[in-house]
Amino acid sequence: MLIKHDKNICEICNTRLENLLKDIKLSDSELMMLNRPKRVLTFNIPLRMDSGEIRYFNGYRIQYNDALGPTKGGIRFHLDVDLEEVKTLSFLMALKCAVSDLPFGGAKGGIEVNPKKLSQSELERLSRGYIREIHNFIGPHVDIPAPDINTNSQIMAWMMDEYSKIKGRFVPGVITGKPIELGGSKGRVVATALGGAFILRRLPEIEKLNPKKIKIVIQGFGNVGSNIARILFDWGYKIIAVSDVKGGVYNEKGLDIKKIIQKQKEKGFIPEIEGIKKITNKELLELDCDVLIPAATSHQITKDNASAIKTKIILEMANAPTTPEADSILFKRDIKIIPDTIANSGGVIVSYFEWVQNSSNEYWSEKKVFKKLEAKITRAFDRVASTCYSEKCDLRLAANMVAIRKIIQAEKLRGNL
Ligand code: NAD
Repeated sequence: MLIKHDKNICEICNTRLENLLKDIKLSDSELMMLNRPKRVLTFNIPLRMDSGEIRYFNGYRIQYNDALGPTKGGIRFHLDVDLEEVKTLSFLMALKCAVSDLPFGGAKGGIEVNPKKLSQSELERLSRGYIREIHNFIGPHVDIPAPDINTNSQIMAWMMDEYSKIKGRFVPGVITGKPIELGGSKGRVVATALGGAFILRRLPEIEKLNPKKIKIVIQGFGNVGSNIARILFDWGYKIIAVSDVKGGVYNEKGLDIKKIIQKQKEKGFIPEIEGIKKITNKELLELDCDVLIPAATSHQITKDNASAIKTKIILEMANAPTTPEADSILFKRDIKIIPDTIANSGGVIVSYFEWVQNSSNEYWSEKKVFKKLEAKITRAFDRVASTCYSEKCDLRLAANMVAIRKIIQAEKLRGNL
């Protein structure tokens, strides 16, 4: 292998690609095109705190691959944000957009910050500061950010406003996940969760069973975790455990998800409930269940706990919740994984719908958004499932094959390979 190990390479992406080489044939130049991002922006954002002091925060925006169209991906505010993590997440976005057949490449961004330590006005200044650093490198036909962990529609509104002020015109298509009043799409808030629920319902192991008999465990109770819990609960499924960063609650007979959501709204976290057992995140991941839904942060299922996982199916709603080492342990144990690139693609699919609506200035009903989401995510899942069947491989490998072949073909047609 003629790979020159330089600093541009995304080490984690390179390892993932090298693991694929026995199944997907890649030339040296194809591997070199795929194992590093196209463009990396790192910057230092000054923020005037309410106290008058100025503090600096590390910011990143990485555009991994744009063969299929303008790059697309969220912005996260978290203390764990670093260059390598953002590179890996932008690579996953490139795969996700390709699998879902969206006319987008992949990107990701973030700020190394604990937003919970900032006041609302500090948060606004930091969000605007982020856009001032990257405005020359984004745009509706260049790179389109969106929300991710600890960022929301209000932050997207400030960011879109800052970009529009700099450009001197209203540019809603520069960012997705905006409030409805500023060109956001109906249904975007629940799109990721709903997309995952559509896929789960379609699995042959699930679709013929009585929902009341299927035991589901969910880690993470933010936008994605709490919404998928509510949707599945409304559809009659039995959710036996949920958790957030502080731990969770467990009831073998099933939890009242609506009550938990209500209490979480009041307290800000999953509260203790009388008569319901408390559980740690470690215990939750190892519960005996039919479906485990990681919907929190990356690398929750690792080589250290993969042998103890007792579920039949893992629906990866978080990005990269399973490490490659854990993946092979779970594969040998016959645990089916619906990979993140397909399971949580509902968010980027409805982001794409938002971008289309912004371009045409015509806005759709929630019913239309959900119908189009179901059609698009189901088509993408079926394509991956049929590749899985024809190539006799697991769903993650099949999704990677579909995505990588599409990106390589686009690069070839552009004359870059
Ligand atoms: P969020 O910030 O709204 O919620 C995150 C939740 O995870 C919170 O309940 C938090 O308490 C919990 N959490 C954090 N660390 C934890 C830990 N170590 N153990 C257990 N719980 C923990 O974020 P979100 O938007 O719901 O995103 C969740 C995941 O889904 C992320 O991996 C994100 O990248 C992915 N994702 C989100 C979207 C979207 O549309 N929001 C789209 C695609 C993928």
